[in-house]
Amino acid sequence: MHKFQDVALRRVIRTLLERAGSEPAEAAQVSDHLVDANLRGHDSHGIGLIPHYVHNIENRTMCPNTGLTLVRDGGAVMQFDGGFGFGQRVGAEMMERLIERARELGTVVAALRNVHHLGRIGTYAEMAVAAGLVSIHFVNVTGHPPLVAPYRGSHGRFATNPICIGVPGTERHEPFLLDMATGLVAVGKARVALNKGEALPPGTLVDARGQPTTDPKVMFPDDEAERGAILPFGLHKGYCLLFAAELLAGVLGGGGTSNPETHGLDTICNHMLTVVIDPASLVDPEWMEREIDTLVDYVTSSPPANPDEPVLIPGDPERMALEARMADGIPVDPVTWDGILDAGEQVGLPRSEAAALLANA
Ligand code: NAD
Repeated sequence: MHKFQDVALRRVIRTLLERAGSEPAEAAQVSDHLVDANLRGHDSHGIGLIPHYVHNIENRTMCPNTGLTLVRDGGAVMQFDGGFGFGQRVGAEMMERLIERARELGTVVAALRNVHHLGRIGTYAEMAVAAGLVSIHFVNVTGHPPLVAPYRGSHGRFATNPICIGVPGTERHEPFLLDMATGLVAVGKARVALNKGEALPPGTLVDARGQPTTDPKVMFPDDEAERGAILPFGLHKGYCLLFAAELLAGVLGGGGTSNPETHGLDTICNHMLTVVIDPASLVDPEWMEREIDTLVDYVTSSPPANPDEPVLIPGDPERMALEARMADGIPVDPVTWDGILDAGEQVGLPRSEAAALLANA
């Protein structure tokens, strides 16, 4: 396992993205988003995505240097198109607009369609929360074969459709940040396990015949007919939420659903429905702060079943990973690192230069 400091990775990834065609500001923004995902423990949404992004730039299903386009401004309802630009840039640009609008009107609902992979959705909720706002995000995915089977099914019909909710913290408590795939695992976690030669936990995957398996290879088959599926989290209830994200993001988001016509596009396109709320438009901020403090104290005082595993609030695991990885560095498995270096060579960043950037950071 390699271990790199975040600054070193930011420098390599930023340079690689510039060589792939991004303007410096965009390259820095995407690189920061990816490295920040690694820092928070989500390697599935970190720098390991670079080979896919380079592939999608080269097959022209992703367009660097493309910003957010406002399609319709209806006041508290806004529609945007991402023009297949980098989701990390377009998503952040949209959140800046929504934060401004929610402060003005108390709330805003926004539909974002046709954006390349938005990455770690929690990044956008963190922007709202930092501005003292609540945000809710439903996301679906088109452009590649489905990954997650419906409850009682065995072949994929959905992607891992994330749902994310951020609520600001208080003086005493960190923000609540729920950010989760509705498939039992994000497909990137299967990719990371495959690269490390590890199995996934039992009950996560089925093979193409619907039989339980722990082998992540079923998600990356050499023969498409052998593709397995991830199961939804939480049995039928998780399946219902997965389906809800598909409807809210794909239909209301305006970009379309996991329709077989899009499966062959060899890309990853996100659509997202976002609601941003200024809590002060609904409740007294001082009362809200007291109520959140009381609730979090009460919840976390529940005696842990295992003394080594205290009760956490959503967002804590990411904060703990951030602290540990800032101190110890970010682990990157050799297969993932090699894939990134190969992608670099493809766009004109030789391995020797990548090594020098890493060393000089
Ligand atoms: P996960 O299972 O690691 O965490 C899910 C949530 O559970 C997080 O909010 C985390 O803080 C919380 N959590 C974890 N352990 C906890 C505990 N003990 N107590 C309280 N809360 C706890 O995340 P995941 O489902 O694997 O998703 C990973 C990432 O993948 C997310 O950032 C998501 O946005 C991203 N994703 C993106 C896409 C896309 O198309 N852009 C698709 C799927 C997933």
